[in-house]
Amino acid sequence: MPATDFTKVSEQLCAIVCAHNVLTTPSSMEGYVKDWTGQYRSDALAIVRPVSTQDVSDIVKICIAHHISIVPQGGQKGLCGGGVTIEGHQSIILSLTRMNTIRSIDVNGRTLIAEAGVVLETLHQKSLEHGLIFPLVFGAKGSCTIGGNLSTNAGGSNVVRYGNTRELCIGIEAVMPDGSIINALTGLRKDNTGYDLKNLMIGAEGTLGIITAAVFKLSPVQTSRATAFLSLSSLDVAVDVLNRLQDQTGGGVEAFEYMPREAVDVICNQFPHIRQPLDEPAKTGILLEVASSRPFDAEQLDDGSIRLEDQVVQVLGELMEQELVIDAMVTRSVQQRRDLWEMRESILEAITQNGPAYHFDISLPLAQIASFVDQMNSEAAMHGYLPLTVGHLGDGNLHYALSAKGNERWDSLPLAAMKQFAFDLLIELKGSFSAEHGIGQSKLSIMTKLKEPA
Ligand SMILES: Cc1cc2nc3c(=O)[nH]c(=O)nc-3n(C[C@H](O)[C@H](O)[C@H](O)COP(=O)(O)OP(=O)(O)OC[C@H]3O[C@@H](n4cnc5c(N)ncnc54)[C@H](O)[C@@H]3O)c2cc1C
Repeated sequence: MPATDFTKVSEQLCAIVCAHNVLTTPSSMEGYVKDWTGQYRSDALAIVRPVSTQDVSDIVKICIAHHISIVPQGGQKGLCGGGVTIEGHQSIILSLTRMNTIRSIDVNGRTLIAEAGVVLETLHQKSLEHGLIFPLVFGAKGSCTIGGNLSTNAGGSNVVRYGNTRELCIGIEAVMPDGSIINALTGLRKDNTGYDLKNLMIGAEGTLGIITAAVFKLSPVQTSRATAFLSLSSLDVAVDVLNRLQDQTGGGVEAFEYMPREAVDVICNQFPHIRQPLDEPAKTGILLEVASSRPFDAEQLDDGSIRLEDQVVQVLGELMEQELVIDAMVTRSVQQRRDLWEMRESILEAITQNGPAYHFDISLPLAQIASFVDQMNSEAAMHGYLPLTVGHLGDGNLHYALSAKGNERWDSLPLAAMKQFAFDLLIELKGSFSAEHGIGQSKLSIMTKLKEPA
């Protein structure tokens, strides 16, 4: 589009959101045109920052009239390049971060209505102020937005208990590609009046419309918690250990995070203030968290411990007798728990600082996880790679990263062959090539290859 033509469009956009919310100079757009991974960066005609659903609708109508595509953007923490423009397209970036109001909280109904640009951690804080929790949690919580969470159907470390973002959302407001507004914010838990548009919009990464607000379910606050770092005898026993803990705690496991030795080592090397949780580093480490909101579980026992903690220690004792668990560190203070979670949430930054890496975000049937990891690790080692894996093991989700081993030069390693091996293995074991990060730009070609055309 010639610059003169966009000047006219720009004037119309300024009339909607005011001139200072239509950014067009390279320096003012700089913070919006590249993605978190640093892999994707492309020009935009403008960054437009609406503050209301009506603004979004009006902007969409102008863009349709001028054949301009729109890339919705939240906190820019997506890991697949979905929140930035594609080279060669005439696009604006629609930044939703000014739409950051929590419209209402229904404490009795245990729901909350938030706009798309609300930062995830703000939702945590607001819910807690009302004695409730919003359980979606992961490393980017301080800056990702709920619009981005919904659009990628984000998961995180509590999915084993509470589900993905989809399971937490019971209503949506969105602007469709013709500029019309869908308002489904009633928060009804039952509403079988036709197609479920909400569930189509969730995980659609902005391809079907722009989410402007949503209703979320809230949960009771956990009043007792047991957090531990375990060393398992092997990855094969992980599912058994998880199930035994679930059975003995009434399904209370909130996190069961796989952290093998290589991953913990790289975190401790990159962030020296983070310490190995066990004296003998665990080959198969698990960050375990069990929690309950029942007053009974929070009762203090004669020895000063909390009932839930005591129960988890007992189960771990039995698992150790059976040699499924080799060692365990149960946290005894809020600080110790924080340290374990800081370690877990530092992994992506640690890998990024460590050097070049290729990240798979995959899922598998629980029974196939150990087989996948064994086969991938052998193949990776043979080709000069050091795997740096972590995973939300309770959901069968692995973040499997390949980095260069020792003195190997990243550029000389056979990445295409390794990717082929991984995707063939995934097909054989009936897994998915994108578990929770979405498609974006990074997985478009693999999606074309692996998804059935129908
Ligand atoms: C350190 C770190 C740890 C992470 N850990 C996890 C994890 O454990 N689990 C997990 O699932 N993800 C994780 N992520 C990925 C990321 O945080 C999520 O994908 C997040 O949901 C993105 O939100 P955002 O607001 O930053 O979205 P953006 O990056 O801005 O956008 C992401 C996608 O959503 C679209 N989008 C954004 N807002 C809207 C909207 N309002 N309407 C329509 N489309 C929209 C964009 O176009 C883009 O395609 C992690 C990221 C980082 C950096």
